[in-house]
Amino acid sequence: MFWTDEIADDIIAKNPNQKKFIIRDEKTLSGRVHIGSLRGVVIHGIIAQALRERGKEVEYYFEFNDFDPMDGLPVYLDQEKYKQYMGQPLYTVPSPDPKYKNYAEYFGEEFLAVIKSIGFDPKIIRASDLYLKGKYNKWIERVLKHPKEIRDIYKEVSGSIKPDDWYPFQVICEKCGKVGTTKVTGMNGDKVTYSCEPNMVKWAQGCGHKGEVNPYDGRGKLPWKVEWAVKWCGLGVNIEGSGKDHNTSGGSHDISERICREILDMPPPYNIPYEFFLIEGAKMSSSKGRGSSSKEIADLLPPELLRFLMIKIPPKRPIDFNPEGTTIPVLFDQYDQAADQFFMDQKTFPDLERLFHYAQLSEKEPKKHYLPRFSRVMFFLQMPHLDAKKEVSALKGEDLTKEDIAEVNLRVDYGKKWLADYAPEQFKFEIQKELPKVVLTDTQKKFLSDIAKLMTEDLKGEELHGKIHEIRKSSTLEPRQAFEAIYLVLLGKNSGPQAGWFLEALDKEFVMKRFNEASQL
Ligand SMILES: [Zn+2]
Repeated sequence: MFWTDEIADDIIAKNPNQKKFIIRDEKTLSGRVHIGSLRGVVIHGIIAQALRERGKEVEYYFEFNDFDPMDGLPVYLDQEKYKQYMGQPLYTVPSPDPKYKNYAEYFGEEFLAVIKSIGFDPKIIRASDLYLKGKYNKWIERVLKHPKEIRDIYKEVSGSIKPDDWYPFQVICEKCGKVGTTKVTGMNGDKVTYSCEPNMVKWAQGCGHKGEVNPYDGRGKLPWKVEWAVKWCGLGVNIEGSGKDHNTSGGSHDISERICREILDMPPPYNIPYEFFLIEGAKMSSSKGRGSSSKEIADLLPPELLRFLMIKIPPKRPIDFNPEGTTIPVLFDQYDQAADQFFMDQKTFPDLERLFHYAQLSEKEPKKHYLPRFSRVMFFLQMPHLDAKKEVSALKGEDLTKEDIAEVNLRVDYGKKWLADYAPEQFKFEIQKELPKVVLTDTQKKFLSDIAKLMTEDLKGEELHGKIHEIRKSSTLEPRQAFEAIYLVLLGKNSGPQAGWFLEALDKEFVMKRFNEASQL
């Protein structure tokens, strides 16, 4: 069974009488959002879809976490300008672009545009709103009544020993506005006393202020593992998966689960642990802060393909993505195979059919249409005088429908970007207007002149390909030497597209003239 269906059925089996489910995910908006964070959004999004398709009501919340402190400076930011904000809650840091309300909104909106482009529309909530509106007040009150129990949970689950004067809360300093630098020093009725420490963390410096505040309505925040449990309870979350890093034994999920059950008296949500999305390849260096953000990967692939890529591997396995090499043409081929299964009457691979179903942007049934092979479209794109739509129509053997045309245009658009940035040499070629400087053996020259004669017959690609192979066999040439001659004189390089289809698509007179010219060198 396809993994999405398996999880959705399992959720329902464990909650047979529940009609409505709350699903939640979040991202701390500390900078450009890495593609890895999209994996969680997609997993939650299609589980929401699968539950809806099973007749359940679902609310999918995605939180812009804008209340965490700024604890690192991305390399693409003006370091001088931003270092003063280190330690402040992200929603109080100015946006790199003044059109956005704050730093977190700027990166959040860019990520949200990607989320929407692949067909998900979660309800956006903001950590700052929830804190400031007092949504977590009653849970904060409960947490602050049990500092010792929480310290014990940390110790039992992860072995981390918190000092006896440690309280699970951080105040936003009333003087300098930082939250990453403060330490609660005690409780005084319904207030907490705190100090803003100059040397508590390496990445920010506190101002030394000491004060006393009421800890509610956004005056401070809970530490992550406690906060996570409060977030579940505050919204009544039923389902929330999380990355591998949170799901190690004794890790943050284990701690949050125990706080949820034992301190907040609520059941923790159904967990879907998922592996990383890894980006590989020399061009994808994230140290430069480029190449692996959600937006950058989304720009490489049509939305359905990106969604397909995210869904085809079950959550428990990592996704390794290297846009260089043959990855993208292979991904298109896999998508086309899944489409074949979907539209086929007798399904031989039901999981592929389900995968295609979940890869669609709309929950409406997709309309069957012609999917031209990506590598063929790349070939048409690089042939002078060829019109991709006309060629695809010839491949289909019929006129193209509106949906077919949209598909060709899509593959042409993304194909152009791929050819420019990522396509390996074997996929790229350019017809040379003049005969390139080449050295050919006499046997190679004879081979080319024989093909030139063959070109006078009106042969289709496959036939032509067969005949070229026959000529090669009757000569003393190795296949590599033979085909190299064709590519060298036309493209100036020693490899190229499949010869028969390639020559068929070129102007016959041009090929004959070029091959004869080369054979007389
Ligand atoms: Zn301060």
